[in-house]
Amino acid sequence: MALLNVLLSDMRPGRCSATVEIRLLRFWEARNVRKGGELMSVDMLFIDADSTVTQGTVAATRQLRFRDRLTEGSVYTLSGFDVVRSSSNFRLCDAPLMIRFNDGTSFDKKFNPERPIPTEHFRFMPYSRLLELANTGTQLPDIIGEVNAIRSTITDRIPGAQRVMLTLRLESGENVCVSMFDSMALRFHTKFDSYEKEPRVVIATSINPKIVGGRMFLNATSGTHLYFDCDTAASKEVFDTLTGEGTDGDSGSSKVVHAQKIEPVTVSELNKFIISAEPQTIEFLCTAKVTGIQTEEGWCYIGCATCSKKLIRETASFTCAHCNEANAVAALRYRVTLTVSDESDTASFLGFDMEIAKLTCLQASEAAQIVGVGHDAQVDTDIPLSLAGVVGKTYTFQLKLNDFNFSSKHQTFTISRIFPERALAPTPTFAGHDGGQTAEMTNPGVVPQATDGELGNPHIGGNKASTSANTSDKRPQQGEADSDVDENGRKKAHVG
Ligand SMILES: [Zn+2]
Repeated sequence: MALLNVLLSDMRPGRCSATVEIRLLRFWEARNVRKGGELMSVDMLFIDADSTVTQGTVAATRQLRFRDRLTEGSVYTLSGFDVVRSSSNFRLCDAPLMIRFNDGTSFDKKFNPERPIPTEHFRFMPYSRLLELANTGTQLPDIIGEVNAIRSTITDRIPGAQRVMLTLRLESGENVCVSMFDSMALRFHTKFDSYEKEPRVVIATSINPKIVGGRMFLNATSGTHLYFDCDTAASKEVFDTLTGEGTDGDSGSSKVVHAQKIEPVTVSELNKFIISAEPQTIEFLCTAKVTGIQTEEGWCYIGCATCSKKLIRETASFTCAHCNEANAVAALRYRVTLTVSDESDTASFLGFDMEIAKLTCLQASEAAQIVGVGHDAQVDTDIPLSLAGVVGKTYTFQLKLNDFNFSSKHQTFTISRIFPERALAPTPTFAGHDGGQTAEMTNPGVVPQATDGELGNPHIGGNKASTSANTSDKRPQQGEADSDVDENGRKKAHVG
C-alpha cells in the first residue's frame, strides 16, 4: 500500500506497479484516414491532484476492455501500466512521459478521490506564441476566444466534405481562424444545433497552428474538443466579462455567415463554365467515371520528403528550393491526370498525392520505387496496378477552379477532394442572416486534418492522435502545386 497514490510527476519509464489517482479530462479516437478510417488507438488526457497533465493511450487491439469505462471528467485509479517517453511532436501537454495501457492495466472509477483533483486544464497560448508554433508540428495548444464569425461550406449530402471556419477574437484583440473538417465539422454542427443559442465564447483544444498563404489557421485535430460559453470555468469567465454590465447575454446579431454551397455540375457544364464565365476561384462537385489515366506526363513526381514540393535534380542529388536543402530526401508523390466522363462530356482532372492515395489505398512510395538520384533518377513502374484499378470507377470529385483554368491553355481541372460515392449525411443547417463574406471558405490553403498514418512513420510513444493534424502539409496545396509544376516544366516533373 506504500505505493498508493503516486503522482504523475513521480513516474519513471518502464512498467509502473504503483497506483495513480487521476481525472480523465478528455479522450478521443486516433484513426488512419488513409486506411479507411481504421482505429489506431484511443488517446486520453489525464490530470492529477498536483495539476500535472499527462497523455495516455490504449492501442486499438485492447481498447474495448477499457472503452465503456471512459467518462470525461471522472476520477480513476490506474495501475499496472507502462510509462514511455512522449513524442516531441504534436504535444498536448508538457509532461515528458506518457501512459500506455497494457493487458495487465487496471483502470477503475473512483468516486471519492484522496485529494481534490482539478476538473479542467487548458494550455492557452498568446498569439505571438501561436505564430511561433505555426508549421513546426511541435505543440497542439488550446485556444479560447469570443465568436466573431461562423462560416460553413456545405457540400450537399457528401459525407466528409463539411468544413467549418470559426473566427475567434482573442482576449489580446487578434482574430484567429479555427478550421474544422469532416467529422470535426459535423461534431461542431451537432453541438451547435443542440445548443439553444449561438455561443459567444468557444474553447477549441489541441489545435495545430499553420500558416498558409501568409495567414494563420488553427486546424482542428482528432484530439480537438469544443466547449461553449459556460461549459467550463475558463470559458465562463470570459463569457461573464462579455455579458456583464447589464446586458442580457445576447450579442444582438448572429455571427453565422450564411453557408456557401458547392454546386454539383456535369462535365459538360464544367467545360462550358470555364469558357463562358469570368475568371474566378470557385469549387464544384462533379460525379464522373474515370475512363483513363493520361500517361504523357507520368503519374508521379519526385517530391521532397519534408515539404512535398517537387525536387530539383542535380548531378547526384536532389535540391529542395522550398526547404533550402541541398541534399533533400526524395519521396515519390502522385500527380495523376485522369480522363473522366459522364453522359454529357469528357474532361481531364488532375489529382495530387493524398487524394490519389485515398483512391488506391497505397501511397506512391509504396506503389513504386525511385531508382538512382539526381539526373539519373527513374521510377521503376510505368503505372502501378493499384492506380490502373481506378479506371472504370465512378467518383464524386470536388474541383477547385482558379483564374488560370479560364485561360485556354489550362483545360485540366485540379481535384481538391475525391469522394468514393454519394451517400446521405446530415446536412448542417445554419440559420442566420446572409451577406457575410464567404470568400475565405474557399481558401486554397486550407486542407483537411488527417491522421498520422499518412506520415508513414512508426509511432513512438503512442502519440498518435496528436499527430493527426500535421499531415495536411504532405499534400501540395492546390494552387501552389500546380504553379510549381508549371513553372518548372512538366517534363521535369514526371519521372515515369
Ligand atoms: Zn522540401
